[in-house]
Amino acid sequence: MSFELLKLPYAKHTLEPFISEKTIEYHYGKHHRAYVNNLNNLVAKDDSLKEKKLTDIIRQYAEVGGAIFNNAAQVWNHSFYWECLTPPSNEDANEPSGKLADAIIEIFGSFEAFKDQFSQKAMSTFGSGWVWLIKNKNGKLEVLSTSNAANPMSAGHTPLLTCDVWEHAYYLDTKNDRSKYISNFWSLVNWAFVAHQFEMA
Ligand code: MN
Repeated sequence: MSFELLKLPYAKHTLEPFISEKTIEYHYGKHHRAYVNNLNNLVAKDDSLKEKKLTDIIRQYAEVGGAIFNNAAQVWNHSFYWECLTPPSNEDANEPSGKLADAIIEIFGSFEAFKDQFSQKAMSTFGSGWVWLIKNKNGKLEVLSTSNAANPMSAGHTPLLTCDVWEHAYYLDTKNDRSKYISNFWSLVNWAFVAHQFEMA
């Protein structure tokens, strides 16, 4: 069994002007694809991995780290990131609704306060990593960041939303300006997808 690159749920140019087609070509077409290929090469050399699900590999190898963990987690993290995004709508403000919106207001005070906390976490993540909205082990919403390939599911949390803050996610579009990339990110969040993760968790 081999792992496959997620089929992007939208055309490559449709996140513009917030994320360019060129960034998608590199980030999805080269970086994400390379993680899939690397993982498949590692799995081909290790019979103990052959029938395992991606999430099982991520949980099993979280403590050990190394190439198997890094590539497996990066495959999952990127697939999740692409699903967290959607082409921008011209009509409404891009905000959550329903039970997810209620839970965000309960924990963070307001949607704006949540965005500020998430954005600040994204800015303060040193080097490469990911910022997450999770439902934690106690069922509460929480914002946290992880380094490199790490994923909150290894600690028993459920990811609801993520933002990739590796430089390869934004360098072609905003160069060194991570804050501009993060403000663009808010125009693209697929709140229906995030709400679905919340309701399933
Ligand atoms: Mn990335």
